[in-house]
Amino acid sequence: MSIPPPTRKNPLARTRQPLLPPVPRSRAALGLGAAASWGRFALQVCASCEHVQYPPREVCGACLSGALVWRDVPSGGTVIAATNVRISADPYFRERTPWRIGTVTMDAGPAVIAHLHDGVAAGDRARLVLRLDKAGQGVMLALPEDGRGDERDGKAMREMTADPRDRRVLVSDGRNPVGQAVARALIEAGARVVVGIADLWRPFTPVAGAEVFELDVTDTDSVRRAAAEFGGRIEIVVNTAMHIRPGGIIGRGDVITARDEMEITYFGFMRLAQAFGPALRFRGADGTHPACAWVNVLSVFGLAGSPAWGGLSAAHAAALSLAQTLRAELRPGGIRVVNALVGPLDDEWHQSVPPPKVAPAAIGAAVVRALREGVEQVAVGDVAQDIVARWRDDPEVLAREMMEGMA
Ligand SMILES: [Zn+2]
Repeated sequence: MSIPPPTRKNPLARTRQPLLPPVPRSRAALGLGAAASWGRFALQVCASCEHVQYPPREVCGACLSGALVWRDVPSGGTVIAATNVRISADPYFRERTPWRIGTVTMDAGPAVIAHLHDGVAAGDRARLVLRLDKAGQGVMLALPEDGRGDERDGKAMREMTADPRDRRVLVSDGRNPVGQAVARALIEAGARVVVGIADLWRPFTPVAGAEVFELDVTDTDSVRRAAAEFGGRIEIVVNTAMHIRPGGIIGRGDVITARDEMEITYFGFMRLAQAFGPALRFRGADGTHPACAWVNVLSVFGLAGSPAWGGLSAAHAAALSLAQTLRAELRPGGIRVVNALVGPLDDEWHQSVPPPKVAPAAIGAAVVRALREGVEQVAVGDVAQDIVARWRDDPEVLAREMMEGMA
């Protein structure tokens, strides 16, 4: 079942209000969202008896031990019951019935209630994935085990992901190779793309198939003009604006470069979000292809600063913190905020950095994949993946490793 492209909107029709699914209140349950945000399939496992827990809880259901650790577990299972929910007291599901849910007995042990993909029925083998729902909570989704059909077209799947196909996407900076590669990947994925170009009168590399609009993230008027022109028609914003220069504190001797870094990476992000955020949030349930995501391409050094790139690291740490606030502010509209964390780029500013370096095309592919899978965080390239793994293991040890130049 393929979703046809959106039709022209009737300006008199009601814009469907974004509603959110119910939110559980336990701290343990938030662990599901944390795993889902990275696209991991992790559940709590008891450190004493290895019992796999679901739903998340404070103590082991088998031996009452409090030592529960989130760990990746096998995701296969068998659907033992399927139900088509036609009537719901919950306002979010009331607008979306019929909605399929079912009970899946996991190979790892527990039986779970999951949203069912259209392609799985009672008795089928299924592959469980953890996805974020519109409220940002981790939920189970059962997909066909053999990958039958296009999983992106399932109804539950579309609510929990942000497939760029047939959506209109703004890529904020088409002057740098990353913005160009991201725009190309999105067009390839079936999106309609507007690329922002600062100082249109200067020569730039066009991206085949993309519209171009004057947009300078360092200029509030420019950002506001762009938002007034087409902000109400954008479903996904990808902020690719970046300013890459090496250097820390003492060697630089002044704050000129640092100010440029903040102007583009931090204030530029804030200007874009102030101009485009309100319409995105309002249109989170609008039609068959509602507004759905905001993507930031940021340096992985925002998680733990690299002294050789100290100014850049600080600007990206600030932007990461801002992304957290934007995530909270866009949540009422069900808009997902995705951070694509990248390692050193294969570009002119990283010539002295030894490989592996990440190619712009890999960033484009990762952004599309993140949107399709509905994750909130993705590490792009070997360096970024390694740093994220060490950060998850122990952020304080990682900070020391960065000081020793071990990353
Ligand atoms: Zn136990």
